[in-house]
Amino acid sequence: MRIVGIEGTAWAASAALFDTATDEVIIESDPYQPDSGGIHPREAAEHMGEAIPAVVETVLDRAAETADGDGPAVDGVAFSRGPGLGPCLRIVGTAARALAQTLDVPLVGVNHMVAHLEIGRHGSGFDSPVCLNASGANAHLLGYHNGRYRVLGETMDTGVGNAIDKFTRHVGWTHPGGPKVEAAAEDGEYCDLPYVVKGMDFSFSGIMSAAKDAYDDGVPVEDVCFGLQETIFAMLTEVAERALSLTGTDELVLGGGVGQNQRLREMLAEMCEQRGAAFYAPEPRFLRDNAGMIAVLGARMLAAGDTLAVPDSSVDPNFRPDQVPVTWRDDEES
Ligand code: ATP
Repeated sequence: MRIVGIEGTAWAASAALFDTATDEVIIESDPYQPDSGGIHPREAAEHMGEAIPAVVETVLDRAAETADGDGPAVDGVAFSRGPGLGPCLRIVGTAARALAQTLDVPLVGVNHMVAHLEIGRHGSGFDSPVCLNASGANAHLLGYHNGRYRVLGETMDTGVGNAIDKFTRHVGWTHPGGPKVEAAAEDGEYCDLPYVVKGMDFSFSGIMSAAKDAYDDGVPVEDVCFGLQETIFAMLTEVAERALSLTGTDELVLGGGVGQNQRLREMLAEMCEQRGAAFYAPEPRFLRDNAGMIAVLGARMLAAGDTLAVPDSSVDPNFRPDQVPVTWRDDEES
């Protein structure tokens, strides 16, 4: 089976081709880069409108080149249905519906956060891991039980990447801030910041205010970056460990763009090693937003017959992972 995936929830206009026979995933992405400040929904949607047709066309060309006969030989079109920025999602939804109808193939609506999780399951071969999704707009722990991915713990305010990006905007650095914090932290020393974990949930807004205040009070930016990483990632690691403990699971996968951070990966790997759990972090192209993860989960959903009729295919900016009935795996895996 060959399936085209289309992603465009926030900043990455992306299309992909996944071939289940070879396991090969071809991804073509065009990122939106704000001139200043953070992601502006209207500008991001304008970017989607311009970039999505081009990335889809490139992927369809590749599909045609590798097909046995004439045409792209595609069996389905999967798209990110949410969560994300409404204006961006609507453009992606329209593109996916048009493409599915043009190719006369089924349409598959994928939850973006479940795709962040499933790409880790795909790459690791894990059966039923706990997943830490550490992305721009989200931060949560997911575990599978009784036909759904349950939210075991989550941020009580902003997503983890967005929190870091807010601090870097304050400092005057361009978007995205995460890689810049990681680089600056290399030369930093620990700076004390509030550590906020409440049960299985956690909060970033107080840390961000404290980090901005520390910077304004003259603490070297490298030290604030070091303190931010140590504090935020320790919080995520603590809750990930508790999720493993509570579920009795011995597999952890990491998802989301912040998962590209070496220090976070190091902390999670060390925690897993200490408790005898296996840890898997996908390669960076599958961690940040990308259509490859949409195509891979889309193929599994299509194989399970989990498709959408066009009139039922509206997008949902607040689409939570626990709203998705998991049709593509056996309940025995719970
Ligand atoms: P979501 O997937 O929840 O819709 P998104 O689309 O904003 O959110 P991703 O592509 O998953 O997010 O991740 C982007 C975020 O990752 C940005 O906030 C960026 O600063 C952060 N990020 C990227 N690289 C790093 C890094 N090396 N260290 C920390 N954060 C990083």
